[in-house]
Amino acid sequence: MMSEQIPDNRSVVGRFAPSPTGPLHLGSLVAAVGSYAMAKREGGLWLLRMEDLDTPRVVPGMADDMFRTLEALGFAWDGEVMWQSRRSDAYSAAFERLLAIGEAYPCGCSRAEIARAASAPHDGEGEVAYPNICRNGLQPGKEPRSYRVKVGSEPIVVRDLVMGEKRYDLSQICGDFVVKRADGLFAYQLAVVVDDADQGVNQVVRGADLLSSTPRQILLQSLLDYETPVYAHLPLVTAAGGGKLSKRDNAVSLAAGLDLAVEGGRLILAALRFLGQRPPESLAGSNGKEVLAWGAANFDIALVPTASAPLSVH
Ligand code: GLU
Repeated sequence: MMSEQIPDNRSVVGRFAPSPTGPLHLGSLVAAVGSYAMAKREGGLWLLRMEDLDTPRVVPGMADDMFRTLEALGFAWDGEVMWQSRRSDAYSAAFERLLAIGEAYPCGCSRAEIARAASAPHDGEGEVAYPNICRNGLQPGKEPRSYRVKVGSEPIVVRDLVMGEKRYDLSQICGDFVVKRADGLFAYQLAVVVDDADQGVNQVVRGADLLSSTPRQILLQSLLDYETPVYAHLPLVTAAGGGKLSKRDNAVSLAAGLDLAVEGGRLILAALRFLGQRPPESLAGSNGKEVLAWGAANFDIALVPTASAPLSVH
């Protein structure tokens, strides 16, 4: 039961944090339904954060489409939406703190230099572990490009309500990682940790594609004296034969012409079933809000499967 996982003197604060770099998709729908039901099951808050940090990748109009789509699906979020694009002072303060305590440092290496110096990519993501070249000072003649945070060789343990307990050796996976990018933008890893702490988020329910980011976020939380939230990473949605969904089959968006007044309830039911839940047949024909209310009353995290799978709507 969730109540054993969360300290009982605090109520649950969950969140949904889409990036407006493309429309909501079936994976975001699953994350929205799972995070909503988990927070509401405990009588908690469900916050919405627009992760428009990576400004060059933001698609104009997308955030608006997301709000309208979520509303049409029957979701209601608590409080004001947080916009990452308006939070650079908060990120900057956290970044300065990492520098002040000697845990972050400037790096003058280009991508090509890192690829040349590093060993083979790890963990199938094509990521190379940074060989910590600048940790003890910039190489002669180099200017700072990005800033990195130091990782230790102690494994970081992630305790996940769905995926179980996993250990990560960040020195092997990514090495010292970027918290401020060469283009001057703060990295997602830093932003998400600062935002979750500032919003009082104590329950993070999101797609399993972010599981490998979690140990980095846990490290930053401990360096910045933030509490680590409870994590639940949900299985990913694949195409019918496995593999990645095409953009067309994947979009859950009003702008893409979906009639959510009709389809909303069916989509939420499909997401709940995908998450191993057993909503009753009597909910067929209900609207999104009604199906979400069932999810909020009955969601059981112990039923959520770990494996990626297709999501069938009909
Ligand atoms: N903005 C991220 C995404 O859309 C989610 C970040 C998070 O939930 O921590 O994939």
